[in-house]
Amino acid sequence: MADCIFCRIATGEIPATIVRRTPEAVAFRDLTPQAPAHVLIIPTRHLAAVRDAREPADQAELGRLLQFAAEVATELGLDEGGYRLVANTGKNGGQSVFHLHFHLLGGRPLGWPPG
Ligand code: 5GP
Ligand code: ZN
Repeated sequence: MADCIFCRIATGEIPATIVRRTPEAVAFRDLTPQAPAHVLIIPTRHLAAVRDAREPADQAELGRLLQFAAEVATELGLDEGGYRLVANTGKNGGQSVFHLHFHLLGGRPLGWPPG
């Protein structure tokens, strides 16, 4: 989608610090990091949110995206200390960019419950 920030990061039109890339997924550093490690995990294909990924092909892609996120966490050295993988969804979830993404956060203890 031409007016979607994350689609434009996926194509390279908008610069970002890319951590890992496959043909169907990209991991890049969040512009406003909330933890020592804060990476966004996106599918290159535009999907607005987790709640929109309902087709069998979408579900399979989400499974691969989670696997990709786990590999990124390993690459960043987060396995031992642990991390949080979260997809803010819609208004109450606090989603501000409507291209499906997981936040991968680690490098410090994270509070629970979230605000
Ligand atoms: P959400 O609020 O939708 O869960 O998360 C969107 C995230 O995208 C925020 O953490 C925000 O800092 C990040 N973000 C927004 N615009 C950009 C950008 O242009 N580049 C990067 N790297 N991150 C962005
Ligand atoms: Zn998009």
